[in-house]
Amino acid sequence: MNAQPAASLFIDGRPVEGEGVVLPVHYPYTGEEIASLREASTGQVARACAAAAAAQPAWAALPPVERGRVLVRAAAIIRARNAELSRLETLDTGKPIQETLVADWESGAAALEFFGGLAAGLTGQMIPLGRDWAYTIREPLGVCAGIGAWNYPSQIACWKTAPALVMGNAMVFKPSEETPLGALKLAGILAEAGLPAGLFSVLQGRGAVGAALVSDPHVAKVSLTGSVPTGRRVYAAAAEGMRHVTMELGGKSPLIVFDDASLEDAVGAAMLANFYSSGQICSNGTRVFLQDGIREAFLDQLAERVRNVKIGDPLDPETQHGPIVSPAQAGRIRAAIAAGEAEGARILCGGPGEGAFIPPTVFTGARDDMTITRDEIFGPVMTTLGFTDEDEVIRRANATGFGLAAGVFTRDLARGHRVVARLEAGTCWINAYNLTPVEMPFGGVKQSGIGRENSAAAIEHYSQLKSVYVGMGGVDAPY
Ligand code: NDP
Repeated sequence: MNAQPAASLFIDGRPVEGEGVVLPVHYPYTGEEIASLREASTGQVARACAAAAAAQPAWAALPPVERGRVLVRAAAIIRARNAELSRLETLDTGKPIQETLVADWESGAAALEFFGGLAAGLTGQMIPLGRDWAYTIREPLGVCAGIGAWNYPSQIACWKTAPALVMGNAMVFKPSEETPLGALKLAGILAEAGLPAGLFSVLQGRGAVGAALVSDPHVAKVSLTGSVPTGRRVYAAAAEGMRHVTMELGGKSPLIVFDDASLEDAVGAAMLANFYSSGQICSNGTRVFLQDGIREAFLDQLAERVRNVKIGDPLDPETQHGPIVSPAQAGRIRAAIAAGEAEGARILCGGPGEGAFIPPTVFTGARDDMTITRDEIFGPVMTTLGFTDEDEVIRRANATGFGLAAGVFTRDLARGHRVVARLEAGTCWINAYNLTPVEMPFGGVKQSGIGRENSAAAIEHYSQLKSVYVGMGGVDAPY
C-alpha cells in the first residue's frame, strides 16, 4: 500500500519537502511502511509562520461571508471525496473503515460548514452610555498554531482550522508524527476551495517541531490537542509570549449508571464510551460506576455483547474493532492492564491481546485508588466500580484531577440534571455518551483543558475584542 504524498510539508500555498530527519509512516494493522516523510527544519517552521503573517491581513480584510464561502466549499469537497479520504484515515490511524467513513472527515466537514455559515454573524456589540456610546469589534488574533494528537487527526485539524480561518486568522498546523497524512489532504482541499496561499500551512515533526512553532514570534495563539503533560509544557511556552491558548487534553471520565437506567442503552453507551476507536478517545467514560441493583445484569450483558465484537482488518466494512495506533501505545496499554491485575482487579473479558490488537477489556473488582481507575490509559480498557447512593458516586466521580467529560444514565430526568450539575466536567451527557455535534461546545475543566472547541463559543478563543468609546459631546476636564 502506498500513501506517499507529493511532499511532506505544505508551506505558503504549495507542497514542500521537509529538510529534517525521515519520519516513516506505518499502517498500524500490518506495520507496513505506507509513506516516508521528512520533518520540517527550524527554518521551515519560521518560513511557514512568516508566510502566514504576510497573508493574514488581506484575508482578515475580506467581508466575513467571503471567508465563510471558502470553508463551505471545502466542506463540499470533503463530502464528495469522503470514501477516499476515509480510507487514507484508516491507513494512517488503523481505525475501522466503518468508523472513519462516518466520524472523522465527516465531522471535519461539519465544522467547516458550521463556521463557514457563522461568518455573517461575527459582529460586535453596541453599548449605549447615555449621551455617549461604545461599541466592540471582534478582531482576529493573527497567526494561530495548531498541534494535533493521533486519534482523530483530520477531525482535529478541521476543528481548529475552521474557527481560526473564519475569524480572519492564519493557521500553521503540526499533526502528530504518528498520523501526518490527513492534514496534508486538508491543505490541498482548502487551496482548491480558494483559500489564498499562506493561510493554512502544514509542518511535520515530533515534539521539537511543535515547540519551535509555539515559540515563533509571529504566533499569537496556540491550540493543542494532546496529553496533560504535553499541555503543561506547551501552555508554559505559550505564556512566555503571552499567547492565547486552547488546551484539549486528556481525561478519566466517569459514566454513572443508576438502577433505573435502560440496561440495553447503558451497556451500549458504555461500550461506545470505551471501545470506539479502540478506546483511543480523550472523552471516554473509562470509570463506569454501577449502582448496586443493576450491576450484575449490566456486567452479564456487557460480557455477552463484548464477546460478539468483530475484531480484525480495519478495511473490512464488518470490522468493529481495529488495531492500536502504534506498538509503543499498545505497550503502554498492556502495561496498564498488567498493573490492574497486579493491584488485584479482575479481567471480566478481554486482556492484553497480541501484536497490534488489544481486545475490548473490562475490569471488575477495582478500587478508586488503583492506577487503572486513576490514570488515563487511552486504549480499550473499561474499569467498572460499584456504588450505592447519589452523593457517594458524585464525590467519587469528582475525585480526580481530570475534568473533561461525564455521563449519567437514569430514567429519572430530575436526577439526571441534578447529578450533572454537580459533576466537575466540561462536557456531560444524560442518557447518551461521546456525541460531539458541532453545535455543542466541547472541552474540559480542571487539568483537562482550557477553552472550548466547536459551536459559536470557539470563536471567542480565536478572536479578541477591541472596545471603542465614542464621545458625542465636549470633554468635561477638571483642569
Ligand atoms: P501528546 O501529548 O503526546 O502529543 C500531542 C501533540 O503535541 C503531538 O503532535 C506531539 O508531537 C506534540 N508535542 C509533543 N511535545 C510537544 C512540545 N513540547 N511542544 C509542542 N508540541 C509537542 O498526545 P498524543 O498524540 O499521544 O495523544 C493522546 C493524548 O491526547 C491523550 O492524553 C488524549 O486524552 C489527548 N486527547 C485529547 C483530546 C481532547 O479533545 N481533549 C482529543 C484527543 C486526544 P508528536 O507526538 O508528533 O511527538
